[in-house]
Amino acid sequence: MDTRVPDNILASVGPIDHYLTALHGRIAGVTDGEIATYIPELAKVDPELFGIAIATVDGKVYTVGDSSYSFTIQSISKAFVYGYTLAEYGRDYVLSRIGVEPTGEAFNSIILDEVHKRPFNPMVNAGAMAAAELIKGDTPEARIATMLGALSRFAGRSLHVDESVLRSEQATGHRNRAIAYMMLNSGMIHSPPETILDIYFRQCSVRVTCADLAVMAATFANDGVNPLTGERALAREYIQDVLTVMNSCGMYNYAGQWSYEIGMPAKSGVAGGIIAVIPGQIGIGVFSPRLDAHGHSVRGVRVCREISETFGLHVFRNHTNSGAIIRRELSGAVVRSKRMRTPKERALLDERGELISLIEVQGGMFFGSTERLVRRIDALAADAEFVILDLRRVHDADQAARRLLLDLIEWLHERDRRLIFAHLSPDGPLGPLHIELIARGVADQMVFEHRDQALEWCENQLISAFTDTSDRTKFSLGQLDIFAGLPRDDLRILEGLVRPMVFEPGQTIVAEGDEANLFFVVARGTVTVQLRLKTENDSERIVRVASLGPGVSFGEMALLDGGHRSADVVADDRVVCYGFSVEELREVGQSHPRIFTTILGNMMRDFSERLRRANDEIRALRSSRAAQRRPKKRRMRAPMAAASASASAAMRFSSAWRPASTSPKRSISSGARANMSSNATLPISSAATSLWAIAVAVRRMPVKSDISPTMSPA
Ligand code: GLN
Repeated sequence: MDTRVPDNILASVGPIDHYLTALHGRIAGVTDGEIATYIPELAKVDPELFGIAIATVDGKVYTVGDSSYSFTIQSISKAFVYGYTLAEYGRDYVLSRIGVEPTGEAFNSIILDEVHKRPFNPMVNAGAMAAAELIKGDTPEARIATMLGALSRFAGRSLHVDESVLRSEQATGHRNRAIAYMMLNSGMIHSPPETILDIYFRQCSVRVTCADLAVMAATFANDGVNPLTGERALAREYIQDVLTVMNSCGMYNYAGQWSYEIGMPAKSGVAGGIIAVIPGQIGIGVFSPRLDAHGHSVRGVRVCREISETFGLHVFRNHTNSGAIIRRELSGAVVRSKRMRTPKERALLDERGELISLIEVQGGMFFGSTERLVRRIDALAADAEFVILDLRRVHDADQAARRLLLDLIEWLHERDRRLIFAHLSPDGPLGPLHIELIARGVADQMVFEHRDQALEWCENQLISAFTDTSDRTKFSLGQLDIFAGLPRDDLRILEGLVRPMVFEPGQTIVAEGDEANLFFVVARGTVTVQLRLKTENDSERIVRVASLGPGVSFGEMALLDGGHRSADVVADDRVVCYGFSVEELREVGQSHPRIFTTILGNMMRDFSERLRRANDEIRALRSSRAAQRRPKKRRMRAPMAAASASASAAMRFSSAWRPASTSPKRSISSGARANMSSNATLPISSAATSLWAIAVAVRRMPVKSDISPTMSPA
């Protein structure tokens, strides 16, 4: 026995290399089987050669043993040429020429499907020759180049024909000639058998290493994209066709047993190579020349069996967990947007916030997981008017997910419920859904970049649905929280100090670092409090900390410390503010201490309320009982069923949403919903960020007086 140290045994590092080295060492002792001699050139091989390679779908290639020794690919080429024909001619045509039924016979069997006038499948020689006839090219050389190109794209490098093996097979391949003539005789091929045999023999004589084979298999595993080059070798839609036929026919009359025990779509060649594919995970390439009675590498079969058993890779084993789709559910009663609200608005959201539900979705969205999500959303929608899906942690979604979500949107719409998306981007996994929503003209009310914006939008809907929306842009000073409790006389004094100011959209009202000498109350429009962060590459990133609407004050910290602004405040739209000079207020405070202490008292009350709220929110985010673990008993409602019933029905979207106010009393909270979280990372809570906002202040700005606010106490 050859006792060579395999090529790279010393280079082995890490647990997978370690495993493969041990596996290689164990199986290298197996000397059963015979090398193929019917192609005389193959008989010259060293029977002890033995290489194993595993390639992952992200391009990591593990190798052990004689992984860089090259040998002829033989029948393994059949899988790739079959894929080529599907891509060139489409399923239907290829199916009319080559079947997909196992023969239960050896690779070189001369049985043909006379009923359907086609060879049984593309993995046996007859079917492979029928496929070879379909390789395109104007000249024999062009067709060979096409074949080599197709195989090379899978390998990620240029592959070549081994001329001596080719000549050897050309000289002795009479059985293959017999098969070709039989097919010509029964109309299964149409061109001269020798031209087809020439291509077929050449595709079998392409030289590869077992590392190449692993990459070629990993390209199947990676939906047709070569993980090393990033180049697409085969359209995604045909991968399942090739793998299905590999699974049922790739190992010939051993395919059933192989599938039962090892469970990986695979293909072998008489030179001693085997490929096996675990879709979405890895490709395996093994090479060892001694063959069993079926013509498969003895060690190759052993290697695949061990890898399958050790790592549980049988393809019919379930690797998915559809239940992990919901990371956490939160109620709008507890989790708020960064929008600072007036006490009245806060009270309203405390009472009605339950009408907003937020679900953090995570992982892959496919039929099973999305169906769970859809079921859960439907349950939540019994009470919630708005369900926000935060898709930030969704890494993959398929057409089933898209389809189910579209059906769900319609289902909810008909029931006056809204599904709102955050982090649904056109280039993300659910990009096509985004595009569809834009096409239907509903994206502006359903799709938000961040979840905070989605939350704020939903809160705004609730607030406008449940409050009297008569002119909310005029405030008398007595209505402002910061001046609450001040008697008429004091308010009159303050009126003399007010500076009405107008800001245009995008204008900076307060800039970070500026001296804080004014504080503001928003009278109309909204403003955003934001931080400018330096990123690693020295560019600037803007982080939105809070937004403030009418009746909310900012910059009042200046009254306490008179320091510098700690953030920017920018006008979102045309904004009207009432500005107060800190200095003037201080002066007034000298003569009228009550004014100053009342304002400070109001500020403190506001701070402590926000702090309490921040704590509640933290508690809600931290406490974790999965809502779906205590499902509510309720009637069976099935958007899935309805969806399938109305599968082809045109979807009816109206771009204008019927506001919740059409039935304001309908669905007030039905008791606290369980919130779930396990190892939640805390987002900056709305309340906590409000504290930021409060710390912000003002600097000199154009004082316009084209606005005359109502200043008298109501
Ligand atoms: N070229 C070989 C033949 O046609 C391929 C057979 C195989 O690898 N199983 O006989």
